[in-house]
Amino acid sequence: MRWHILGAGSLGSLWAARLYRAGCDVELILRDQQRLASYQSAGGLTLIEDNQPHCYPIPAVSIDDCGPISRLLLACKAYDAPTAIIQLAPLLAEDAEVILLQNGLGSQERVAALIPQARCILASSTEGAFRQADFCTVFAGHGHTWLGDPLQSEPPTWLVDLQQSQINHDWAEDIVSRLWRKLALNCAINPLTVLYDCRNGGLLEHQAEVATLCHELNQLLHACGMSTAATGLHEQVIRVINATAANYSSMHQDVSQKRRTEIAYLIGYACAAAERQQLQLPHLNALNERLGQYLDAHGLPRH
Ligand code: NAP
Repeated sequence: MRWHILGAGSLGSLWAARLYRAGCDVELILRDQQRLASYQSAGGLTLIEDNQPHCYPIPAVSIDDCGPISRLLLACKAYDAPTAIIQLAPLLAEDAEVILLQNGLGSQERVAALIPQARCILASSTEGAFRQADFCTVFAGHGHTWLGDPLQSEPPTWLVDLQQSQINHDWAEDIVSRLWRKLALNCAINPLTVLYDCRNGGLLEHQAEVATLCHELNQLLHACGMSTAATGLHEQVIRVINATAANYSSMHQDVSQKRRTEIAYLIGYACAAAERQQLQLPHLNALNERLGQYLDAHGLPRH
């Protein structure tokens, strides 16, 4: 069965190149004819691994010319996902499967609600990739991807394609809890790295602030019924800060490169969830507000 992949950006390219070279049938869906023409003149997708570039001539179509879809990997940003799925919904087969790679919480939920006829598989990934140029992606960090379906515990048959493509993965029955845990880690680290303009390791100088945030995030996870995701949160945050001390967080990279952030699906989502639970989290709310003001001052949208 064909893998349709929407979004030939960093993560979409990383998946597309590995599936294609393992012999899977892959087709990229690009936003319009102009993007398709640029892709064709590039001659394919280039993936750089260990400084070695390799170009893969993966077939591609523009979204307007795309045929019926049975399996879709939605690899755009969280804020683009609902619009993209509205465009693709009429093409989805009755029993279509859609894999959602978006970071944070909120976007995957919205997409799933827009396509009730499809099976939506939620993903949480620690792989790292960035675009060096158009249709040229660097595989920057090996990691792992957890996939799961909160509505149906049986794993899909196509996990074998991921195995063959050497995409490290596991089927996770607790995917929602994993997504909340990742959201909490992000809230405790990423906004502060933007505000202090530092690498992750720079937060070792702000440990009291990190601890206060972890305490509030812990309360949020419990209030949202995600107690397992709360276990040992502060300890893991400190471990991540130490293990990634030399790295800039993804939010810091977005802001320093003047790109729109996904904060509405990260700390913004956490603050909204706390409000729904009528939970007072003053430090998390204050951090969200400081981050909003920082983005305003840098000419970037808050959402
Ligand atoms: P990205 O490099 O910005 O790529 C997004 C791609 O989606 C772009 O190529 C964009 O097309 C395309 N797109 C958006 N709307 C579209 C539409 N309507 N039709 C066709 N294409 C459309 O983003 P990314 O870094 O791969 O991130 C994707 C998601 O994965 C995010 O939620 C991110 O947080 C998450 N994630 C990323 C990483 C990573 O290392 N990169 C790791 C873990 C999770 P154009 O090129 O035409 O703009």
